[in-house]
Amino acid sequence: MDIEQFRKAGYAAIDSICDYYSTISEIPVKAQVQPGYLIDQLPKEAPVEGEEFAEISNDFQRQIIPGITHWQSPSFFAYFPSNSTFESMLADLYSASVTNPGFNWVCSPACTELEQVVVEWAARMLGLAEKFWGSSGIGGGVIMGSASDSAFTASIAARERALRVLSSQKGVERSANGQIDIPDSIRQEYGQKLVVYGSTQTHSLGAKAALMLGLPFRAVSVSIEDQYSLTGESVKQAIEKDVQDGLIPFLVYATVGTTSTGAVDRIAEIGEVLKEYPTTFLHVDAAWAGVAYALPEYRESLRLKEVNEYADSFCTNYHKWGLTTFDCSIFCVKDRKDLTQALDVTPPFLRSKEADEGTVIDYRNWQPALGRRFRSIKLWFVLRSFGINGFQKHLENGIEQCQQLAKIVEQSSTFEIVTPPSLALLVFRLKPSSSSPEEVSEDELNILNQNLHDRLNSRYDVFLTQTVLHSKEKNIFCIRLAMGGRYTTFQDVKKTWDIIESEGEEVLRGWKKVMAE
Ligand SMILES: *Cc1c(COP(=O)(O)O)cnc(C)c1O
Repeated sequence: MDIEQFRKAGYAAIDSICDYYSTISEIPVKAQVQPGYLIDQLPKEAPVEGEEFAEISNDFQRQIIPGITHWQSPSFFAYFPSNSTFESMLADLYSASVTNPGFNWVCSPACTELEQVVVEWAARMLGLAEKFWGSSGIGGGVIMGSASDSAFTASIAARERALRVLSSQKGVERSANGQIDIPDSIRQEYGQKLVVYGSTQTHSLGAKAALMLGLPFRAVSVSIEDQYSLTGESVKQAIEKDVQDGLIPFLVYATVGTTSTGAVDRIAEIGEVLKEYPTTFLHVDAAWAGVAYALPEYRESLRLKEVNEYADSFCTNYHKWGLTTFDCSIFCVKDRKDLTQALDVTPPFLRSKEADEGTVIDYRNWQPALGRRFRSIKLWFVLRSFGINGFQKHLENGIEQCQQLAKIVEQSSTFEIVTPPSLALLVFRLKPSSSSPEEVSEDELNILNQNLHDRLNSRYDVFLTQTVLHSKEKNIFCIRLAMGGRYTTFQDVKKTWDIIESEGEEVLRGWKKVMAE
């Protein structure tokens, strides 16, 4: 493809993307294909001779689009939204046009410096404390591919920091550059005694990070009475038990806005407990809900002040609710040395004059991988094009839709809200009102809701996901409806709710028939 062919194909590509977006609300949200649908259509090997680009891009429409689940559909309510915007699509195109692995400042100074600037914009917009800003010279932020990458990186930083604290407790002196080099003997003695903590509602990223480090993960229990928030007292008990057994706490994952129900852990309580344990690092995972700090009226309920006071690191995904096309996970730390002392491995070929002089950031030292994508353009375009006001308006839309839907569900005689609505997330279940003759047992309710979910799942025009909560030795099967889509209106929410209601009635009708027999 030469420049002129690219020009033409590029215009055509944008045209077809525009067509896609102008009809997206009319197509079913879920892909209507069976496993293997694409593998069966495609040749087993790459073509020997090059093909016409028109044909290739035609096959994108013909073969790929049918297998796409439309996350940008206004009727997408599963998981959490993964919003895309035209601004970020164009940014990705520009980024691809100057593609480079960006690991050092010298790779492309703009990549590093734009990232420093927009991550700070993002952090300031959310009200994160100055300590998390790069301009503090001590803390700072970096864009990662996912909240899982951020949490894993935090775990590496936490482990090294814990081993440095232990080294210092055992009398290891600082070296000439002021750092503590962890002796092998300390690694051997304590490296395998470290323990990670989270709750049973912590995203699987917690257990996965622990698994990758080869260390245990304690999923501390939470209860419906505490609205599934992790409490300081329960963390304290878990830690005390491990310490008695000769183990060492080194990392707690606290969540602001859990995936299941949007619960917010008691950050200050946990932080106070951790004061007793200087080896411990507190990472706050706010992958979904963190962007809502852009709305000052939600900062208190989402415990921003506590995060600012107690967290060592913080992560939120602008690629979920935050209008930035996947991937854009913001990871901020209060002390950048926690990252660089754990991840800076510099062979001679990666050295540069600017880095040696300490005047620039080399982001490879802030993450596990060496190379990295130029993601900051996306966030730059989005924040400039929407402005803080536009960004806030988008968040408010999702929250308002959730509040409106919550009113409808509250008045329903066949459904109940299970946990308090959290921002744009509603967790509900089918529950016939007690005016029905027989009291329905919890087990029966779970079967009814599983039935409802199966019925919804077999349709292509709605997409919701389930969750299972634990309460008093019992499981509660629930359905989640996550709003906040870029193009979703309340009409779209209502359309899906009407389908849920009528499927719910079908389930109850079938159940009453069985009960009558
Ligand atoms: C979505 C989500 C994650 C996972 O995010 P990735 O970026 O896909 O790793 C982690 N934690 C919470 C609370 C989430 O909602």
